[in-house]
Amino acid sequence: MELIKGIPVSPGIVFGRAIHVGEAERHVPQRTIAAGEVDSELRRLDKALEEAADELGQLRDRTERELGAEPAKIFGFHLGLLRDRALLDIIRGRIRDELVNAEQAVADQFQSLINQFRKMGNVVFEQKANDVVDLERRVLGKLMGETKSRIAQLKEPAVIIAHELTPSQTAGLDRAKVIAIATDAGGQTGHTSIVARALGLPAVVGCQDATERIDDGDLVLVDGDSGVLVVAPDEAMLAEYRTRAERGARRRRVVQEEASLDPVTRDGTRIAMLGNIEFPEEVEAVLANGGDGVGLFRTEFLYLTRSEPPDEEEQYRVYRRAIELLAGRPITIRTLDLGADKYTQEAMEEPERNPFLGLRSIRYCLADQPLFKTQLRAIMRASVHGPVKIMFPLVSTLMELRQAKMILADVCEELAEDGLTFDAGVRIGMMVEVPSAALMARVFASESDFFSIGTNDLVQYTLAVDRGNERVAGLYSAASPAILHLVKNVIRAARHEGIEVSLCGEIAGDPEFTMLLVGMGLRTLSMVPAQIPLVKRVVRQVNLEHCERLARRAGSFDSERPIQTFLRDELRRIDPETFGAYNGV
Ligand code: PEP
Ligand code: MG
Repeated sequence: MELIKGIPVSPGIVFGRAIHVGEAERHVPQRTIAAGEVDSELRRLDKALEEAADELGQLRDRTERELGAEPAKIFGFHLGLLRDRALLDIIRGRIRDELVNAEQAVADQFQSLINQFRKMGNVVFEQKANDVVDLERRVLGKLMGETKSRIAQLKEPAVIIAHELTPSQTAGLDRAKVIAIATDAGGQTGHTSIVARALGLPAVVGCQDATERIDDGDLVLVDGDSGVLVVAPDEAMLAEYRTRAERGARRRRVVQEEASLDPVTRDGTRIAMLGNIEFPEEVEAVLANGGDGVGLFRTEFLYLTRSEPPDEEEQYRVYRRAIELLAGRPITIRTLDLGADKYTQEAMEEPERNPFLGLRSIRYCLADQPLFKTQLRAIMRASVHGPVKIMFPLVSTLMELRQAKMILADVCEELAEDGLTFDAGVRIGMMVEVPSAALMARVFASESDFFSIGTNDLVQYTLAVDRGNERVAGLYSAASPAILHLVKNVIRAARHEGIEVSLCGEIAGDPEFTMLLVGMGLRTLSMVPAQIPLVKRVVRQVNLEHCERLARRAGSFDSERPIQTFLRDELRRIDPETFGAYNGV
């Protein structure tokens, strides 16, 4: 039995067999294919070889451009091998005659070549052997690259073990085949974690070396409540966890039963509870959890789960579907927040050195107006079907806000010229998630219809802590006095200019922050749908004066630790039954 500690990012306790993804070279799937599968298996092999060759060709050209002809020659050897008929004929023959799957046939043949080179026992051939290892990984990576295909072959649902998953890999996981996620890398508000929560998959990230300590097929207990993995747990440990899981489930049931009650404080103040979604289908979860609408639709996820960008028509259909599912309730559609950890690096020939400070979000859209306009047209066309608001992400200068609004005005003009209808009264707002915007909130408020505070990024940029990096996860805290200061400033500015303000970072769904946020003046919170009932429960048990007092007190501390402890203690005090042992469930 072995314990591995990580960061709990999505609650739930489950137990199952491990499957590694993203490590093609170590875990080659082995199976006998049916005779009828031979052709498709050969096609799969050819496609993988072709993709690997394309990639190598690009690498060779780039190396030649940047470093000269000599170092580029190495790729010539790789490309030559990929076209070596003798090698490929054996691989094809094994698939055709022995019904071996493509991965296994490739791995066996490359391995035999590696062994031949190694046996020569001199440095030059050792280097060649390493080149073949490299090439084998590339081809296997192409064959198995689709996490989906490996997972699709699973016979029983499994625990995904990976060094790191991208948000798109996570979003593409088949919920029927996967019961939990554990990764070496990652942090609390990384997008992978957010998606895991949205999918309701227990997840522990930042485990550092889980991929080394857990083998394919190991039995693993994943405790997404407290962030622990137990490899090969014994009976006593399993029994203890079963009891805890049942207790957690009971608590969720009790709270769930209250999901349809009104989110009003004891003295009658209503706090609107909205849901954050990535896909229209999640509207159902928002409604089932008693949400009042959608406060954040992360539309970039439409781009992340597919290879071709969606066109105007498809986007229109997706937005319309979300709007119609909400049946008259409000929805805030955020324009594409691509970049940083999402999408653009893979699409870029030259990855950015510092993508979180690079061409992301609204900057990316302003730099690619056809892409931006396509989305704005689709949103505006969908706006006739219900109460829509448009929100721009990561605005850091007033110029960006003005430019984005100007482009939107152009789009509306073009739609009118095309004879297409839209709601001319759509309100236009922005995320406040960069310190420059939070500090200058008064100025932005005078040109915005509403604000939504994005604490996930605000924390990252204010404290200079990568939100997805496990090594600095201990420094990432929304309970920092600097963050409270900025949030307060934004709320004050919004009030002064008479515009709406809400908060849609992960803390909106964290019951420990509910009283503080209400006490600071927020009346709208947008969160992961599954958290709505818990936050609602807190709201229904407090009164405004208490929250305001608590917020003042929290504001008097000089560092995050005492603030965090104070918030936790206060939550436990008002509702020991629900939150006595609260640990994120
Ligand atoms: C945020 O930054 O707080 C936010 C809600 O946006 P995202 O998590 O999509 O970056
Ligand atoms: Mg953000």
